[in-house]
Amino acid sequence: MNIHEYQGKLLLKKYGVAIQEGVVADTPEQAVEAAKEVNRLTGSEWFVVKAQIHAGGRGKGVITETGSHGVVLAKGLDKVQDIAKGILGGHLVTKQTKAGGKKVNKVLIAQDVYYPGESEPSEFYMSVLLNRESGRNIIMYSTEGGMDIETVAENTPHLIFKEEINPTVGLQGFQARRIAFNLGLSGEAFKQMTKFVFALYAAYEGIDASMFEINPVLKTSDNKIIAVDSKVSLDESGLFRHLEIAEMRDKSEEDPVEVEAKEAGLNYVNLDGNVGCMVNGAGLAMATMDIIKLSGGEPANFLDVGGTADAERVEKAFRMILKDENVKAILVNIFGGIVRCDRVAQGVVDAYKNIGDINVPIIIRLQGTNAIEAKKLIDDSGLKVHSAVLLKEAADKVKEVLA
Ligand code: GDP
Ligand code: MN
Repeated sequence: MNIHEYQGKLLLKKYGVAIQEGVVADTPEQAVEAAKEVNRLTGSEWFVVKAQIHAGGRGKGVITETGSHGVVLAKGLDKVQDIAKGILGGHLVTKQTKAGGKKVNKVLIAQDVYYPGESEPSEFYMSVLLNRESGRNIIMYSTEGGMDIETVAENTPHLIFKEEINPTVGLQGFQARRIAFNLGLSGEAFKQMTKFVFALYAAYEGIDASMFEINPVLKTSDNKIIAVDSKVSLDESGLFRHLEIAEMRDKSEEDPVEVEAKEAGLNYVNLDGNVGCMVNGAGLAMATMDIIKLSGGEPANFLDVGGTADAERVEKAFRMILKDENVKAILVNIFGGIVRCDRVAQGVVDAYKNIGDINVPIIIRLQGTNAIEAKKLIDDSGLKVHSAVLLKEAADKVKEVLA
């Protein structure tokens, strides 16, 4: 699960990570009040207005309706209001959004942290994530902050560093110091960076995150180290331990069909292809997607209906797949292990009748307990459904109906 920048920063702050402070607002009027609050904290007239969407590249991104950027520096309350007006309610298109962009419902009014002082501010990159090969968390960081890490990886890969953390002993002092050293810091900034790294890593572990990306981490002109941006992704399997974080979910940022699926207890991911598939078990779903590709189709979705593929779930799954206009055929591939195939078949027949006018060909392959009975049930139902027992047969039928 992803959360907004302002929410991520609140979580970081709880763990002692220094952040660019800010107050979130839903309207231009609230934005002014938010700016006043920030001003009480900083005494400064400079603010940054930041569109809150689940996508990066907001600074360079553009609001379709007004031409405003998604992150804008503002001096004074009037300017804050103007800029918030130009961002709120608009659609922000960035490198990471689809062509239509994402609607902006909130702005963060943040303190300007690039103020002049004894030294130049400098931007770093830092992320925490799991290295699946070693099974250990790593802190990835770079002197090249504020820009796409993909670009840095391509042009100057030697400027990306990694620190792998041993889970038994946790992050060690020498590692935090090596990070500060590699980032070219000394004196107070060095000390602040080691503190920052420890707090950041504690936050990562504490909230069961699956990814942190802080870009940029800023060394201010007075040698503070702060998180200017925050991209925080949470491990959904750990969310039950953090109910207050689970409440941060912003459904408006997610694919509505995927949200509906989650609520129905189905694992559904929307894809670009033309063959809808309904499968029980993630591994079988992957194999089914391969078979669809081999038969000349492209999967329209990943859908795991789970172990208990009863009539109700099957119907929900059908309805979900049928919402996708690109779907030209549906392949149902269920293995009857715990669940009996004839039960599933009855579920399919019932769902088909309940939904009514399904004019997409459906190929059903049921294998396992009572597969033969299931095939008979479907063949006798009088519905325009092709049944198959072997996966190869099912794939051939997909090819046939797509032709
Ligand atoms: P992103 O574009 O979605 O990654 O949003 P960021 O929060 O990273 O902000 C984008 C850019 O805006 C940063 O890389 C900075 O260059 C700039 N920026 C962010 N905060 C401030 C600030 O307080 N003052 C100034 N002058 N620039 C800022
Ligand atoms: Mn950023």
